[in-house]
Amino acid sequence: MALLEIENLSVNYGAIQAVRGLSLTVEEGEVVTLIGANGAGKTTTLRAVSRLLRPVAGSIRFAGRDITRLPADEAVKLGIAQSPEGRQVLARQSVQDNLELGAYTRKGSFRADLNEMYERFPRLGERRDQLAGTLSGGEQQMLAIARAMMSRPKLLLLDEPSLGLAPIIVREIFSIIRELNAQGVTILLVEQNARLAMNASHRTYVLEAGQLTFSGNSAELVNDERVLQAYLGG
Ligand code: ATP
Repeated sequence: MALLEIENLSVNYGAIQAVRGLSLTVEEGEVVTLIGANGAGKTTTLRAVSRLLRPVAGSIRFAGRDITRLPADEAVKLGIAQSPEGRQVLARQSVQDNLELGAYTRKGSFRADLNEMYERFPRLGERRDQLAGTLSGGEQQMLAIARAMMSRPKLLLLDEPSLGLAPIIVREIFSIIRELNAQGVTILLVEQNARLAMNASHRTYVLEAGQLTFSGNSAELVNDERVLQAYLGG
């Protein structure tokens, strides 16, 4: 049984059909990449899984349970967390406040988790009282990932983690992604930087205008003529 199973998913914004009949699976322990041009429907797909958007058709199953109509906070409780495009940290709150927010669905103490995040992301630890809005772009991205991790997700949805970051920071973010996966977190990754994402993932799905065009093992697709032409600059 796949951890995430999307079947025939369609999501509209009014008259715009953003996602049309999409089916994909993510197995436990995998990193799966979703690539596609701007407006292909990648973010829409993630937001349907995290239950921020309501599909018009299709189903989403998580750990064998139908979550197609589950409220977003229930999805977090089940183990789905999203690090959104553009990080969306609370700029006027401290790093620590942002992290605590990530644990809002949890009962009991999460002090040990805070310490774990500060160990994993030492730069956040040094800046725990700093306002999140004054962090660098890379630090804000780390905060967005750490905030998502505070809910102890089984499935982490990462939307464009490399967006607007310097190459050295991008490498750091991707090494964090690999570490989290090595520690058992399953990851569904949306990325503009297709080569990087494919190198960091087991499998890749390619979306065009809301529909899947092809999919396969990342190591094979990264050498596929069609992918090379369209997404890897020939
Ligand atoms: P990008 O790489 O640019 O972030 P994406 O693949 O994530 O693109 P989506 O953000 O999912 O694409 O958008 C898919 C389509 O839905 C686009 O045509 C977009 O204009 C449209 N869309 C997205 N959000 C809305 C909205 N709130 N209202 C209306 N249309 C929307």
